[in-house]
Amino acid sequence: MKRAFEPFEKKVWLSSPTMHGSEIEYITEAYETNWMSTVGENINQVEQMTCEKTGCKYAVALSSGTAALHLAVKLAGVKPGDRVFCSDVTFGATVNPVRYEGGVPVFIDTEYDTWNMDPVALEKAFRMHRDVKVVVVAHLYGVPGKIDEIRDICERNGAIIVEDAAESLGATYKGVQTGTFGRYNVISFNGNKIITGSSGGMFLTDEKEAADKVRKWSTQAREDAPWYQHEEVGYNYRMSNVIAGVVRGQYPYLEEHIRQKKEIYLRYREGLKDLPVTMNPYDGENSEPNFWLSCLLLDREAMCRQVRGEREALYLPEPGKSCPTEILETLAAHNAEGRPIWKPMHLQPIYRMNDFVTVQGNGRGRTNAYLAGEAVDAGADIFERGLCLPSDNKMTVAEQDRIIEMIKSCFD
Ligand SMILES: *Cc1c(COP(=O)(O)O)cnc(C)c1O
Repeated sequence: MKRAFEPFEKKVWLSSPTMHGSEIEYITEAYETNWMSTVGENINQVEQMTCEKTGCKYAVALSSGTAALHLAVKLAGVKPGDRVFCSDVTFGATVNPVRYEGGVPVFIDTEYDTWNMDPVALEKAFRMHRDVKVVVVAHLYGVPGKIDEIRDICERNGAIIVEDAAESLGATYKGVQTGTFGRYNVISFNGNKIITGSSGGMFLTDEKEAADKVRKWSTQAREDAPWYQHEEVGYNYRMSNVIAGVVRGQYPYLEEHIRQKKEIYLRYREGLKDLPVTMNPYDGENSEPNFWLSCLLLDREAMCRQVRGEREALYLPEPGKSCPTEILETLAAHNAEGRPIWKPMHLQPIYRMNDFVTVQGNGRGRTNAYLAGEAVDAGADIFERGLCLPSDNKMTVAEQDRIIEMIKSCFD
């Protein structure tokens, strides 16, 4: 019989917005000065703050990280039918912009050291597809991937990197901020990110021409003429000055949020150290994550039987063992929000016919193997055995202690 707990009165979230007060002042400023538009001082300020924080030369404030990725992919020259190498275990927004431009995502498997794109699989992918010119790389959950290796491979193969740093603002690799390693880079201010504008995103680059192009495309591609003159396709992708006010108020708290998130990560690691689990790993020698989400990976031997269909999951409880489904259901039953690991793109119905390159297993017939309960690639394996824990920076130590006890109880 597994232990029973009182549910939380107030929901403990995975990662919810944390406002500090100055956001509303900048919003009010926009209102009172009537810059209720996609032009204004808040926008100028957040672009400047982004350059100062990350060290990129140019930043263009956009309506979302997805919009920024779209323009980055377009700028990288992706044309209909072009293959593009993409991170596999990531949020769908990393990949969808490739499709907007008619590109064909080819998914690269994940490594176990940082849960990001596996350079060995990437190298293999370039041997299979020598024509690929663009690689879209994400840093999952705020943990920097193997940037040096990936950059080296891309350079040798003449490919442009689009860096999706949507989840990793403030994380560094060898002392350098993520969001500056690609030719075109993206961050997000969506509501659940480390700092937020409620929505919003940013395009980052060191190339003035690229920044100018994105600025132009994002405001309907108007030419310099007395009337609306259009010579290429445009978009309505610019950030609102009201949204920018929220981001402007949040920026000074980025480091505080990271500190809080790191404490949460370390408390989980300590509190769960006697269980047959590990935390989402990072390369502590070369990188400092922003610890956006804390995640668990269950040892294979500690997994009870779990079956996932397309829309639902079942498991068989077993003494001394557990599984992500049991832990997530336990948390949910007590008013705490966890989440499965982002389901790998190569397992998604929309993308499962796309090529997928792995150096794990035999790489073939993986869907059948997966349905039979054995993961033959790292992405599927991490998805099967991993989960995201409640990582809200407003969670108290007492709340987190209770969550740790709930997780432990799943292994009773
Ligand atoms: C959130 C996110 C995005 C998209 O950002 P939006 O601002 O929500 O459009 C892209 N990639 C990753 C990895 C994300 O987590």
